[in-house]
Order: sequence, then C-alpha cells, then structure tokens
Amino acid sequence: MINSKMYELGSRRSVIREIFEYGKKRKAEIGEDKVFDFSIGNPSVESPEAVADRIKELLEVRPSTAVHGYTSAQGDPKARQAIADDLNRRFNTSFTGSNVYLTCGAAASLTISLRSIIDRDDQNVMVFAPFFTEYRVFIESMGAQISVVPASFPKLDLNLEAFRKMINEKTVAVILNSPNNPTGVVYSEEQIKELSAILEEKSREYNHPIYIISDEPYREITYGCKPPFITHYYKNSIICYSYSKGLSLPGERIGYILVPDVMPDWQKLYAAVCGAGRSLGFICAPTMFQHVITKCAPLTSDLSKYAANRELIYNGLSELGYECVRPDGAFYLFVKCLEEDANKFCMRAREYDLLLVPSDDFGCPGYVRIAYCVSADTIRNSMPAFKALAESYR
Ligand code: PLP
Repeated sequence: MINSKMYELGSRRSVIREIFEYGKKRKAEIGEDKVFDFSIGNPSVESPEAVADRIKELLEVRPSTAVHGYTSAQGDPKARQAIADDLNRRFNTSFTGSNVYLTCGAAASLTISLRSIIDRDDQNVMVFAPFFTEYRVFIESMGAQISVVPASFPKLDLNLEAFRKMINEKTVAVILNSPNNPTGVVYSEEQIKELSAILEEKSREYNHPIYIISDEPYREITYGCKPPFITHYYKNSIICYSYSKGLSLPGERIGYILVPDVMPDWQKLYAAVCGAGRSLGFICAPTMFQHVITKCAPLTSDLSKYAANRELIYNGLSELGYECVRPDGAFYLFVKCLEEDANKFCMRAREYDLLLVPSDDFGCPGYVRIAYCVSADTIRNSMPAFKALAESYR
C-alpha cells in the first residue's frame, strides 16, 4: 500500500518545475541564449563575498565535527541570537534567540508553523489569491482545508471585503506573503491594519486566536517601499523567513521561524513549533549554514540588479502593449494574457522560446508570471520574441 495523495503529488510535477525542465532540454537543443526562461525564482545575483569568506573560514575549523555536527534541534544559540539582533536593529523589536527556530528554508518554516497550529481536519487556513502554489500542498498535507480569498482587481492587493465574509469559526490562520509571489505587490500599512482589526474582532468572537503566518522570503527585495513589519500590527503573527532569495542561498536550505515575544503565550506556541519540527523530521537546520548566518544575517546580495531588471521588463512589456502589475518587490511580474486561457497563451509563447508560468495554480486565471531574476541581457534579448507574440494575436 502507498499513500495515494503522496503518489499523486510526486508523480505530477509542479507546473513551474515542468517548464524549468523543458527549458533545460530546449537550451541543450538550440543554445542557452536562445531560450528566454522566466519560469523559476532562482536568484541570479551572487551572494556577497562575505558568505564565501565565511564558508572558507568554517572549512578550516578543527575539529571539523564542530562545523558538521548536530546543533540543538531549534538551532545554534549564536545563530538564533544573531537573527534576533538583526531584526531588533532593523525593526525596533526586542526578540531574543529564544523566539527563533532555524529551519531548512521557508518551505520548512511554513509546514512546521502549520503543523504547530492545525489540530483537526475540519479547520481551514485562508490565503489571498494570487498565492504561492505550494500553500495548497502544505495546508492540505497538514490535514486542513485551504480557503482561497478571490483576487482584488486591478491592484491585486488584499480583498478584505471577501475575507471578512469568508472567515469562520474553523479558521485557524491566514497566510500573508508580502512582497508577493507571483505579483510583486507589497501590501500597504492601511490594509495590514484593517486585516489585523478583522482578525482581532473574529478571534474575540470565536474565542480562539487566528494566526497570521507571514511568509517573508522576499522581505528585503523591495523597490522604494518597505513592507510593514507584521508583529507591530498583530501580536498573533508567526514569521516564516528564508535566506533563499535575499542572500541568494536557495540550495542551502536555511531559514527560520520567529514566534514573537509580543504574542500572548508565545512560549506555548514555540514549544508546539519544536514539536512540529520534531514530528516532521526538521531538527537541526544545516549546521554550516547556521554558522554562515551567525555572521551574515544582516547582509543581502546586490539587490539593485533586480531593481534594474524590473525597470527593463516592466517598461519593455508595457511599451509593447502588455498589461502588467507594477511590482513593488520580489522579482516577479504578473502579466495579463492576450487570450483567456493562460495555459494556451504559455504554449503559444513557447513557440517564441519564451518560458512563462500560467497563473491558474496561483488561484488567479488569465495571467502569466514572469520571474525576472535573470540577466539583463536575457530581458533585452527577449523583447523581439514578446513583440512577435503580441503581433501573433493582432
Ligand atoms: N514562499 C514563497 C512565497 C516562495 O516564493 C518560496 C520559494 O520560491 C518559498 C516560500 C519557499 O522558499 P524556500 O526555498 O526557502 O523553501
């Protein structure tokens, strides 16, 4: 016997991975520079030198068991304190290492956080469309229902009117992702305040806390605006962070969960996070990269390159007549398709060797996501293909 749900998940590749694999094959056929692969959110900007320096330093440490051995389940105390110090300096908070649990990236942060609060299969977790596709997998795998709040057009910000109508006594959490994948939208302070007020009211009405799970792997990648820091607005917030994007370390699997000290009963939830980490086998995030973070937590890659890419792609596609949501952060552009069916549009784009991701699985059909974490040349050289694609619809 095998688990049929897991079989289905494992045998059906995610749409993004499928396109990414196709891209690799196509590049081998016609050459790297002829394929415009905008499919995957793999950072294109190198990590700062300090990361490589720190790795070299760690490789010299003797005995090497100090670098490759287990740390405590929730992470090395120095790494946890370094993360707390970094947040306190930037956001005027007063966290300590005791609020931090190190994880294998944001995916692990999310599954552990969900596991720590979901208690019964009739409970639901709300997400705002468009949303990162894996939320559905994570929520359902933890045994709860996903409740998708429809998108709010044209800004694709939070649809709070629909949210208020849909929230119910079985709601245990809502996932927020700002800057957002797939739109690049950063939710405003005004909307965060309004969302918090609804959650306060509903938590009182239903007599249990409704958590915000704030998924923030793109926190540092913004273009002139700052996402409001969630614990200042809503105490029952759990932060899920990852060094995959801002520090360009997605393959190293390093991130954290922050259970803030302002949360009533935070020690109890932190204990549940430790229990969830244990039950999912996520104890001791990669030790070497914990030690990298101890030194490099305040650093980022040169994010100005994404800002330049944003200008190139947003202006280029807008001039060609594409309708795009102007991103305030992350490295994604959400573009309206030139026909209703996003899958068909993506297949037509493939004829021009443009690899785009259809938006259906993000819960907002009719769009494509363009990951512009590529070289500036790729963006420039792709413009004739985007032009030909647009002309094919005229
Ligand atoms: N959350 C969002 C919104 C993402 O875009 C991603 C990755 O692309 C993740 C979580 C997973 O991040 P990680 O690779 O650190 O597990």
